Formats: sequence, C-alpha cells, structure tokens
Amino acid sequence: MTELSSPTPRWISCPECEAACREVPLPPRAVLHCRRCGVVVRKSTRPTSLQPAWALATAGLLLMVMANVTPIMSFDVAGNTQTNLIGTGVITLYKQGYWPVAGLVFFSAIAAPALYLATVWYVVAACCLARPWPGLHRMLTWAEILESWNLVPVFALATLVSVVKLDTLGTVTWHHGAIWLAVLSICAFLTSQLFDHRMVEERLEELA
Ligand SMILES: [Zn+2]
Repeated sequence: MTELSSPTPRWISCPECEAACREVPLPPRAVLHCRRCGVVVRKSTRPTSLQPAWALATAGLLLMVMANVTPIMSFDVAGNTQTNLIGTGVITLYKQGYWPVAGLVFFSAIAAPALYLATVWYVVAACCLARPWPGLHRMLTWAEILESWNLVPVFALATLVSVVKLDTLGTVTWHHGAIWLAVLSICAFLTSQLFDHRMVEERLEELA
C-alpha cells in the first residue's frame, strides 16, 4: 500500500535483462541490484563524509586570498607594462565610469565565490565538529543561493581566452597569481561537487 501512496515512482531498466527496477534514493556507498538477475543497476554517488568538502572549502578560502593579492599577469604594449590583479579590472572599470559593470565583476569574481566558500566552510565545519553554531540553517540557505554564483572556474577560463586575444596586441607574462587562480578554480568546483546538501540537512537535524 505504501508503494501506491508514494509520489510517482521512477523506473530504470536493468542493463543486463532490461527488467524495470524502481529507483530509490540511495544512502552513501549503497548499491541498487536488479531483482531478477542481480546485476548492479545503480551505485550511490553521494559522498560518505563531509570532511573532503571542509578541507576543500578551507583550501579555497586561503587560495582566494592568495589569488587576490598576487599579480596574475603583466601586459606589455610598446614598452607600457601593466601588472594585473583580479581587482585591477574592477578598479579600472570603476574609474572609467562603468560602475555597474565594476560592481558586477566584483560580486561575481570576488565577493560571491568568497561568501560561498565561507558559508560552506561554516556549515560543514559545524557538522564535522558536531557543534550547533548559531544560524546554521540560514547559512545553508545562503550556500544554496550562492552556489550558482561560484563562478571562479568561468572567470579563470575567460582570463585564458582574453590572454590568447591580448597576445596578438602585445606581450603577456604570467605570474604566480595565475597558479593560485587555477588551483582555486579546481578547489571551488570540487567543493560544490562534494558539498552534499541532503547529508548536511541530516547532520543539522541530528545536531538540533
Ligand atoms: Zn536484470
């Protein structure tokens, strides 16, 4: 009877015998077997622990600082050299009067990714240390909202594309900041992949 009252079930076919298998939410490490032939139909892709997300968020926050205080590249056109930080573009746009664009670049390249990593760090640290810190549910909501603004990998890719274009106009020299930015992109991407909302909600319920 519970089968009938539950919301519309999703069915996936067995890769071996094509029997219809009912898809159910799998806990970490669980495997869904076909009832008829026993073949593995689906494996849980959920992480088993929040500690990797915590480690990556911590590394991400440190890399965020390094990527913002170290020059990424210098651009040389006819003897005029300009060294660029991530913030240089924001300041230049602001000085040229494009303050809405400057604000947007600042928010999407610096503020939003930093806030995303900070909210993830706060929530995941509380879960890992089993500490009922204040405002955890609100922080989780903010992490969910800011996740789509975690645009560091996009920003890094855009930088690479623009450098290819700029290279035809002058000489581009890469600096250490580019390495920090590249590692930060990987870190920010992996944090969003390993930050399991459902597991966090379960842990927060246990803490409450
Ligand atoms: Zn089967």
